[in-house]
Amino acid sequence: EAKSRGRAISVMFHPQLLTELQERRELEMSLRVALERGELVMWYQPLLDIGTRRTVGYEALIRWNHPTRGIIEPSNFIPLAEEAGLIGAIGEWALREALAEAATWHDDLSIAVNVSPAQMRGDAVLKQVVSALAATGVAPERLELEITETLLMEDCEMHLRTLHRLRALGVRIALDDFGTGYSSLNYLRRFPFDKLKVDRSFVSDIVEETDSGAIVETVLNLARKFDMKTTAEGIESEAQLAKLDAMGCSQAQGFLFDKPLPAEGIPPEHRKSLRRLQIA
Ligand code: C2E
Ligand code: MG
Ligand code: MG
Ligand code: MG
Repeated sequence: EAKSRGRAISVMFHPQLLTELQERRELEMSLRVALERGELVMWYQPLLDIGTRRTVGYEALIRWNHPTRGIIEPSNFIPLAEEAGLIGAIGEWALREALAEAATWHDDLSIAVNVSPAQMRGDAVLKQVVSALAATGVAPERLELEITETLLMEDCEMHLRTLHRLRALGVRIALDDFGTGYSSLNYLRRFPFDKLKVDRSFVSDIVEETDSGAIVETVLNLARKFDMKTTAEGIESEAQLAKLDAMGCSQAQGFLFDKPLPAEGIPPEHRKSLRRLQIA
């Protein structure tokens, strides 16, 4: 009895593992061609000035419009792209696409693009940024690159050099998901970020009397001292917004305002009249 059950278990586990591996391989293979086939799409989520509640820019958030699976979110394919060595090509596309889109908006709207640590090795990203800005005619000051703390842990010297060179172009650098990694205050001293993005996990329970409120307040104070802007991610309620406003956070992003939208969802009043005339 025990023996047959043991066998039954091993028979049950192996095919499942194989299937998972196979699925990964298939997903990786289809990701390799997704770019050429135009299956990657960029969606945009507004960033608002908390004081005026006006949209000051958008964050570009990638999606994979898979032929059979439908829309796949980045957490389900960006790590795969990094492992498979595809993140360089995808990152280059993301920059081009987001900047081409931003070129159709009013010049006072910024565009934030996420850059994963794997893209920052070497100086490829620097060349990609320069050529994407030149090709689209977007002013460097409108571009904000979002990087994460993981990057700074990797090879601080090399990455700091790249960040300084990007900044010398006029591009702004934001530290994304702040507080979730092994944040070291030393980074803030060594690299002058233009902005800190307070992670959604701190915003979600900020209204209740939790430690999150104290953490966010400390982060916002710190940002003020270093002359950095702050964006709170993942705001879903008016109560959260009010609390962040009272704490002095400068920008807001979250489902309370809008979810990430396909480019078609961006309000026409944010576009240059040229584009509006073309559509009419
Ligand atoms: P992120 O840069 O921290 O982006 C914010 C994420 O929070 C987005 O998830 C957004 O849809 C979600 N979000 C915004 N407001 C709310 C809210 O009120 N409630 C909730 N529950 N969620 C909210 P998304 O689009 O799934 O992106 C996940 C992550 O994937 C991003 O996190 C970013 O790290 C990465 N990513 C997205 N696009 C790109 C890209 O083009 N390149 C790279 N390398 N990474 C990207
Ligand atoms: Mg981001
Ligand atoms: Mg973030
Ligand atoms: Mg986040």
